[in-house]
Amino acid sequence: EADAAGFSDLSDSELLQAEEPREAEEPRSARGPDGAGKRKRAQRPLDRCALRYLCVTGLAGQSWCEQQMVFGMEQPRPLAPETAALLDTGKSIHLARELEVHDLVKIPTTSREDCWAIKILNLLSVIPVLQAGGHVRELPVFGVIEGVFVSGIIDELCYNTKGELELNELKTRSRPFMPGKAQRKKDHFQVSLYKYIFDTMVQGQLKPDVFTNHIHLRPEQLLGCQLRKHAQKIGFMITSFGDLLELMHLNLMFSDIPGIDCLKIEYSHQESSVPLGTEVVPYEEATVKEKAQYYLAYWKGQREVRGVDIEEAWKCQSCGYSEICNWRKKRAEGLEKRNEPKKSK
Ligand code: SF4
Repeated sequence: EADAAGFSDLSDSELLQAEEPREAEEPRSARGPDGAGKRKRAQRPLDRCALRYLCVTGLAGQSWCEQQMVFGMEQPRPLAPETAALLDTGKSIHLARELEVHDLVKIPTTSREDCWAIKILNLLSVIPVLQAGGHVRELPVFGVIEGVFVSGIIDELCYNTKGELELNELKTRSRPFMPGKAQRKKDHFQVSLYKYIFDTMVQGQLKPDVFTNHIHLRPEQLLGCQLRKHAQKIGFMITSFGDLLELMHLNLMFSDIPGIDCLKIEYSHQESSVPLGTEVVPYEEATVKEKAQYYLAYWKGQREVRGVDIEEAWKCQSCGYSEICNWRKKRAEGLEKRNEPKKSK
């Protein structure tokens, strides 16, 4: 079977993992003595939250409720124990699937460039597997959309029986049935964004200066000793972060890997592992771009944050921020006013 061949191709491969994962963003307190002044001047939510990039899952979260996603970034709260347990189990299931196709190697990191180099090396290491028609998991993707750097991780890519490149996203659920329309809409947008970014990458559009201009990484930074050794082991002679960026650009540009042909989401019940169903997601590039443009407009300070529309007010019932949410309050006040009996003249 084609898939089985893919598995065996990869059984000896390794994916790197930062030993002590470092937050990619510089801490707010590290902005120097005039940090407070800079914060005051910073108007764009991206600057206010000290973000140099956004994640695909975050943008998809905006399609559920933008205000909730923003609260989550600005005022993160500990998860409810049952939610945390669900997420932990979900992570373990993903990890188990990942370990089926490669081993994880812990690499110590000493700079932000080392952390990003790990992601880029992981991307470089799967290119030959895809070129050989193999099967990969946990593939990092990066790109710039509407002037904002966006990063994500594709669950799985493989070639189907028609020879098409197929993306598979696994979603585990606490409840033993398929999600509703709103959840599916969010998931569809997530996988569509993965395709959009992946396709631009394999078309050679991910240029080295994207990493220096958008996330302010230093091309001249020397990479850590163990990282360089591992890169050499998989065939890349690199010294600095800039060397790696050049290699990434050339490898992607001349890879001949096709764009993604088919998007699938597999839902399964977390407790029993029973598959609940698989959705084939239609892809419309114009719609994906339009949505991304709308969501990114908030981060670029071009419009105010929005909560859910009245038809989706049911989402507020299970929202951890409902008691501080002005959007919800204003909507309730507006409804009350509309329902007030009209005074007789
Ligand atoms: Fe969004 Fe409703 Fe939560 Fe406000 S209360 S953040 S509108 S889900």
